[in-house]
Amino acid sequence: MRILKIQTLRGPNYWSIRRHKLIVMRLDLENLAETPSNQIPGFYEGLVEALPSLEGHYCSPGCRGGFLMRVKEGTMMGHIVEHVALELQELAGMHVGFGRTRETATPGIFQVVIEYLNEEAGRYSARAAVRLCQSIVDRGRYPKAELDQDILDLQDLWRESSLGPSTEAIVKEAERRGIPWTQLSARFLIQLGYGVNQKRMQATMTGNTGILGVELACDKEATKRILAASGAPVPKGTVINFFDDLEEAIEYVGGYPIVIKPSDGNHGRGITIDIREWDEAEAAYEAARLISRSIIVERYYAGRDHRVLVVNGKVVAVAERVPAHVVGDGRSTIAQLIEETNQDPNRGEGHDNILTKIELDRSSYQLLERQGLTLKSVPPKGTICYLRATANLSTGGSAIDRTDEIHPENVWLAQRVVKIIGLDIAGLDIVTTDISRPLREVDGVIVEVNAAPGFRMHVAPSQGIPRNVAGAVMDMLFPHEQSGRIPILSVTGTNGKTTTTRLLAHIYKQTGKVIGYTTTDGTYIGEYLVESGDNTGPQSAHVILEDPTVEVAVLETARGGILRSGLGFDLANVGVVLNVSADHLGIGDIDTIEQLANLKSVVAEAVFPDGYAVLNADDHRVAAMAQKTKANIAYFTMNPDAELVRQHVQQGGVAAVYENGYLSIVKGDWTHRIERAENIPLTMGGRAGFMIANALAASLAAFVQDVTIEQIRAGLKTFRASVSQTPGRMNLFNLGKYHALVDYAHNPASYEALGSFVRNWTTGERIGVVGGPGDRRDEDFVTLGKLSAEIFDYIIVKEDDDTRGRLRGSAADLITNGITQVNPNCPYESVLDETTAINKALDMAPDNSLVVILPESVSRAIKLIKLRGLVTEEVQPQ
Ligand code: ATP
Ligand code: ATP
Ligand code: MG
Ligand code: MG
Repeated sequence: MRILKIQTLRGPNYWSIRRHKLIVMRLDLENLAETPSNQIPGFYEGLVEALPSLEGHYCSPGCRGGFLMRVKEGTMMGHIVEHVALELQELAGMHVGFGRTRETATPGIFQVVIEYLNEEAGRYSARAAVRLCQSIVDRGRYPKAELDQDILDLQDLWRESSLGPSTEAIVKEAERRGIPWTQLSARFLIQLGYGVNQKRMQATMTGNTGILGVELACDKEATKRILAASGAPVPKGTVINFFDDLEEAIEYVGGYPIVIKPSDGNHGRGITIDIREWDEAEAAYEAARLISRSIIVERYYAGRDHRVLVVNGKVVAVAERVPAHVVGDGRSTIAQLIEETNQDPNRGEGHDNILTKIELDRSSYQLLERQGLTLKSVPPKGTICYLRATANLSTGGSAIDRTDEIHPENVWLAQRVVKIIGLDIAGLDIVTTDISRPLREVDGVIVEVNAAPGFRMHVAPSQGIPRNVAGAVMDMLFPHEQSGRIPILSVTGTNGKTTTTRLLAHIYKQTGKVIGYTTTDGTYIGEYLVESGDNTGPQSAHVILEDPTVEVAVLETARGGILRSGLGFDLANVGVVLNVSADHLGIGDIDTIEQLANLKSVVAEAVFPDGYAVLNADDHRVAAMAQKTKANIAYFTMNPDAELVRQHVQQGGVAAVYENGYLSIVKGDWTHRIERAENIPLTMGGRAGFMIANALAASLAAFVQDVTIEQIRAGLKTFRASVSQTPGRMNLFNLGKYHALVDYAHNPASYEALGSFVRNWTTGERIGVVGGPGDRRDEDFVTLGKLSAEIFDYIIVKEDDDTRGRLRGSAADLITNGITQVNPNCPYESVLDETTAINKALDMAPDNSLVVILPESVSRAIKLIKLRGLVTEEVQPQ
């Protein structure tokens, strides 16, 4: 077996609209191409031995053991690799269930599709599955040691990629609310929502968290001073910078027991509490000094440690934090008990699990000593031995939910204190013997206020009710169930995508909104180009969706991007499909027009149920997409009598129709005329029928988004197919005696569309300069030749500079072959070099003629025309 290609999909795609995270592996079975599993001696047994848990895969028989049954009876290796890859991820703790395997048009080459949770782990599992199956084929087994290593590697990849527990809680809640999120490329920033409605977070800090509040909270001494000044209970204490001042400071706070901590530490680093004598104080000072220059000396308050979480001015959760400890069983030593406690699968390293493993430090030994214990002691059954003085989860502590127990006065106090510090999300550390009584009654204190508090202890307490604190954050950032989204209008089709996308963006601009749009020419925001280039894939979509100035996204969505990595968004508000015709067939395992239609249908299907699929009723493959999408349907048609559309509008549906020279919106009984086609420059005086179709699609897409008819009309009338706005799309130049048209048509359907316009050129001769990209199929070139013979009076056949792997002259031969098939007398010549061909055509052009150029390089063609002297660009021919 040989892996030919591995692709990672991240959005709605050809294989699934709902499952965005898929790996597509192109796999050559080589010598196994004609050998189903039952014909490979020992394969079934070897597979069951290596991965007995495959028993759990139902597969097509629909029952336990179903898949293994198929292996026994004989199934192809691609299918087995799929199941193995899924199972490997499953064994590493990643729950994935979706897979597909299809043979491509090339016998023996398969596409194996598997779901993933983590991209790298997904790709790893695909490669490991091939390795595993190949090993069983070759040697009858896959060594246990290798499998174990694979699983460890997969677990590592999974762990490394996982977000912290707080961020995890936030993005889960966002997903639950349908708020899209993305991880930005730096500083662990998370973007929630899109465009102008987005919010940002970094751990539990939001874009609204004020820098003053954060800095104040991080300065423990300043916090205490501000709080003390406002009458809130804080530990009596002072700050020192020199060891010599320690003694005096201890006296100032009222003597032992005391606490020494760095003034700007966190996670309990460098803190010693309950210090009872000078030696301890000295050591504590040194420990704190490693973290910070300024040292806080405070009175020690006996009591339990609580974390009160305040979000948007409200207490949303309270947890009691219990320091790391073990409970005696009467048999084991403390060392053994620690070992055992750390076996808990909930305990991980650092912050990446619900709890953290217990690790001992200097204070632990001191604490044990005070309890009269060592690591070798065997504590009696049921006794609690503390191993850490502070209760931070990150030092192995655990948490008990106390949200329902906190006294209302303490709630009031906590909320007031957070307001004073000035934070939208804050965690108060409160030491008190009883959180259900007012602090002032029991001598409780607020030890500090934390910016960016962890959520772990609230969403997954070791005891008590988990609290959805991320929900409170979402309520704050996205009140009234806002989704944080902006309208997304996605446009696909074989021809006319760029034109329609630009026109739609232009129409939408009439609403005064900032439109971000992507096309084959580049990415734009408002009036400006962000980036030039072919920007019709998911990455360009992200540029728009991540931009905080964009209010509406209009995205040209080409097949290449969908195939390579899926859509760049989950669901659109409007999905426009213009047409489907033969183009690019044979590339990327899309070999038939039906497959191409299925691919483009992704744009119609990945639409919200209350959004619209805008479909071309005149193209049966596009019209049929109505059956596949859950969205509302809106049709556009050039045929006012189209039965499908008539029925649709009668049932209350909406459509855009070209009728009696008008572009109109039709719904139920009424017809609202937008504008006469001849008044819309893009349609070239109403002569370019396909442009009318594009304009109908754009108008309809805008209309279903509540853009008014007046705004649509204004947009249609002011959009010009000029070189600057739509280079290479029907750019017509007046050279005085004759005209030249530059167009980027490069497949049979677009030639045909162009032909309908050229045929309307009745004033003089029609000369064509034709050719196409070398990576198209032979028959496509022949078709182009045939169509050219029907359209033009004289043809110059040329080739692209870049033949895309084709032999020089072969494309031209195929085209001339097509020409002579239709009209053996058609005058033509082959001039392979594009520049020479264009110049030749311009030189020979008689008066009143039209030279139609279908260039490889639009800019070069336009330059050659402009070299001819006085040229005016015509945007609306008479
Ligand atoms: P974290 O990052 O977890 O909030 P930290 O490093 O910021 O910890 P503090 O919150 O100041 O440190 O102290 C850690 C813990 O030590 C407190 O939650 C509390 O249990 C205990 N502690 C700190 N100061 C006192 C004090 N004056 N009296 C009693 N206990 C205290
Ligand atoms: P690409 O795949 O290169 O991005 P596209 O789909 O974006 O193409 P446009 O750039 O808008 O299409 O148009 C390219 C050419 O296709 C036009 O110049 C015209 O010749 C032709 N064309 C445009 N609209 C249609 C249509 N609705 N039907 C058929 N052909 C069309
Ligand atoms: Mg703290
Ligand atoms: Mg395009």
